[in-house]
Amino acid sequence: MIFSKKFFNIYQKEEEIEKIEDVIFLGAGASASEGAPVQGALFKEYFRLYKDGEIPYTNSEINTRLVKFFNAFFGINVNQRKVENISFPSFEEILGILELSINRQESFRDYSFSPAKPLIQQIREDLIFLIAIVLDKKLETTPQYHEILVNRLKKEKRLSKTCFISLNYDILIDNALIKLFPEYHVDYGVEFTNFERKIESVKYWERPDPKKSIFLLKLHGSLNWLYCPTCISLTLTPLEKRVAKLVFEPQYCDMCGGEMIPIIIPPTFFKVMSNFFLQKIWRKAESVLTRARRIFFCGYSFPDADVHIKYLLKRTEINKGSTPEIFIINNHEGKPLYQKEEEEWRYKRFFKEKEKVHYTSYSFQEFCEQGINT
Ligand SMILES: [Zn+2]
Repeated sequence: MIFSKKFFNIYQKEEEIEKIEDVIFLGAGASASEGAPVQGALFKEYFRLYKDGEIPYTNSEINTRLVKFFNAFFGINVNQRKVENISFPSFEEILGILELSINRQESFRDYSFSPAKPLIQQIREDLIFLIAIVLDKKLETTPQYHEILVNRLKKEKRLSKTCFISLNYDILIDNALIKLFPEYHVDYGVEFTNFERKIESVKYWERPDPKKSIFLLKLHGSLNWLYCPTCISLTLTPLEKRVAKLVFEPQYCDMCGGEMIPIIIPPTFFKVMSNFFLQKIWRKAESVLTRARRIFFCGYSFPDADVHIKYLLKRTEINKGSTPEIFIINNHEGKPLYQKEEEEWRYKRFFKEKEKVHYTSYSFQEFCEQGINT
């Protein structure tokens, strides 16, 4: 279907978006291929590190609070049991409950106030640090497959026509792309305070040149972004997961001196669009998806709960007037057939033109190495 240029003008007019043909959508499975724990294993991993004394930044207050919280809310006494044998609730489940409580301004017995703020809010912040700590610890090595992917696209001369949309907070794809500097510049789709300043340690960072820019849109935030709620600015710490350092040492905004906080939005966060920067990123993702000829979903199971993502995809599909070619790359060794069938069905029932939805047998690793013959 041909659609008029005029229609596109309601979206971004920038030339760097016009050149985009492919979108690579990175879900948790893509990071898992590099050794990141899947969501369900985050707590297990954290308490294993905690018990082995391997938490890199020792902040005993956070540990004490989390141990107490798991016992009080879920009857899990991590000090008395083998972590391997514990079934932890899912991350979304816990965050969902805390977010609702904060939104409704309600509380739980013994959980009304810590010295500084409502204890529930404190626990929510602790859990976000927990993700930062675990990912920091588990992903210390260089991202192998993300680099292979980026280099393959570069060789095939497709890199500048590709946009990455990531649902992960880790910085695997970021680091793979940053390695291609100065030939290519990572463009997160938002302004950072670092654009205005030259910091010696930030040698890989400057305002991206539109001719060289590769979009990396991180819909749920990132471990290398720090947000200042006072002056509403965002500071980028390339190649560094500075959020993890916040655990033992507060970081202050260079512009106004206010205390900075992480932008990591768990998928269940109900007000996902309330942050100014994330709004811009989601809007940009909409522009990009409306132009995309092909979307590659990597390591993303398309869960029912991700209603914001579905809304974004449906808007772009309907506004564009046609379904892009869709490829799902979710396979891994030993994946049960029923799970594959369920996933395929979930994708197919959602998009309008079913024949354009291709559920492949590729794993993320194979996709990185060989791509898909289309
Ligand atoms: Zn500030």
